[in-house]
Amino acid sequence: MTSFSQQTDFTSFLTNFKSRLKHLLHVRSDIDQLSIKRGVPPFILRDILAAQPLSTFIPQQYGGRGGHIHEGLALLSAASYESLPLSLGFGINWALFLQPVAKYAQEPIKQTIFDGFIHQQKMGGLMITEPDYGSDALHMQSYYQQQGDQYHLQGLKHWAGLTGWADYWLLTARRKNESGQLGRDVDFFICDSSAENQTIIVEEFFENLGIYLLPYGRNRIDVKIPKLQKLEPHSTGIKMMLDLLHRSRMQFPGMALGFLQRMEDEAVSHCQQRLVGGKSLFSYDQVQQRLSALQANVTIATAMCLNSSKKAGATNDLSGAGLEANAVKTTVTDLMQESAQSLLQLVGAKGYRLDHIAGRALVDSRPFQIFEGSNDILYIQIAEAVQKLMQRHKVNNLKTFLSSFELTSRASDYLNSLLDIDLTLPLAQRRLNAFGQLISRIIALQLVDELGDSGYSPVLIANCREHLIQRIAAELSGFQALGSSTYQETDSHTQNWLDCFYRQEDHD
Ligand SMILES: Cc1cc2nc3c(=O)[nH]c(=O)nc-3n(C[C@H](O)[C@H](O)[C@H](O)COP(=O)(O)OP(=O)(O)OC[C@H]3O[C@@H](n4cnc5c(N)ncnc54)[C@H](O)[C@@H]3O)c2cc1C
Repeated sequence: MTSFSQQTDFTSFLTNFKSRLKHLLHVRSDIDQLSIKRGVPPFILRDILAAQPLSTFIPQQYGGRGGHIHEGLALLSAASYESLPLSLGFGINWALFLQPVAKYAQEPIKQTIFDGFIHQQKMGGLMITEPDYGSDALHMQSYYQQQGDQYHLQGLKHWAGLTGWADYWLLTARRKNESGQLGRDVDFFICDSSAENQTIIVEEFFENLGIYLLPYGRNRIDVKIPKLQKLEPHSTGIKMMLDLLHRSRMQFPGMALGFLQRMEDEAVSHCQQRLVGGKSLFSYDQVQQRLSALQANVTIATAMCLNSSKKAGATNDLSGAGLEANAVKTTVTDLMQESAQSLLQLVGAKGYRLDHIAGRALVDSRPFQIFEGSNDILYIQIAEAVQKLMQRHKVNNLKTFLSSFELTSRASDYLNSLLDIDLTLPLAQRRLNAFGQLISRIIALQLVDELGDSGYSPVLIANCREHLIQRIAAELSGFQALGSSTYQETDSHTQNWLDCFYRQEDHD
């Protein structure tokens, strides 16, 4: 339970932080110009971190603000309204470093690490992905061997956010036994880049397409980590990884919300000012359809923030909460890309510039659909989980299942006739993907309905519900219409239209 003084204290902290960001990004610099260059001027980063935003993510007993999920989400959202990459930087520090350290690191080393984040502007990230093992991360080839009171880690990692910047890294690797085989489990180690034998070599910095503020690259790992810096899973390392990743996915709505709100604000302000054909863009029916969709996307992310605040606390074990976490992450990241696309469409050519928020939003939001689990794969996993439950309960009618399933029972009341279909299980992979999307949108509909219980604007809830029902109906018919076509290998002669033209001419 949050006390009144904690609440007012956080409200004033957040207000001060927002005005600091505005001053730094709009008065002392110009974010539109900053964002077309890679990196960030040192004074901007220094002055942002001087407000100690990362203390929000640190438990109170180590001098932080408490690591409360609702405060963290609000901070991410405040940052993403101004800059999505900045918010991603905070999200990395929070979900991929500080949260797992607070929960799983050995006690003697925690205080020093947290002090560095609060007082010395230190930062941390997570390295899982390898060039040959991305989605298939469990087969990673980075390995470790124990040597006395140290672990020797070797491997190659790429695409870790904050490459070359972070002071601390969570490194993942598999144990190599005496006969040279790698164990099935994955272990986590804290690497302190400034300590002896713990330097990570950046072999290459990447020219990432968007999120210019953050550096990415390829890292050679050959470090010796003291035993105290190994994370201690409560059961297996893989379960710890799932707990960490699911919590992180539940926290995506924080990064999404401010960004989606900004997309809406920019679109409304542009459409109100822009005259096309002698009329305000705002008055066109098609434009209103886009604007109300942008507004609905904000409501969905809001509902998800409220839900995650209640469920994603560090003491909860989220390793088994994949279905919900994946539905939240996939849906909200699809909405981010959708809102960015819509803003760019409404702004027109002027928006197709890197120094315009619309163009940047498009490339900045796109990788959210790829990292921390490719949406394609997460949708399949959601569907597989639902399919398994349906098979276990011997139910193949969608309505019967969803109306008794915890995450969808309320939402299914709005979709009664739509959902009355019998499925032939198991589904092919492409159908699983479409089915997973459908389930995710129905879960979102339920979260929006629950947001309605909290006193959130009834008109916005009604507007959002209408959008989601339309979307679900469209996705359901797409799901039912799916065929089984596969890529066809043909010779180039039969697929050349010009040859077809000449053939027909000869014939005529
Ligand atoms: C901007 C950005 C930031 C990142 N940040 C981090 C970070 O901080 N730390 C970190 O460790 N990593 C990070 N990553 C890496 C990211 O997590 C991986 O890119 C992601 O896991 C996908 O791996 P991959 O790129 O190797 O793609 P692949 O595994 O090759 O997959 C590519 C595509 O193939 C398809 N596919 C793959 N498997 C299947 C399947 N079983 N069924 C059907 N389709 C399939 C999907 O469409 C998938 O999107 C980041 C990446 C980006 C772009």
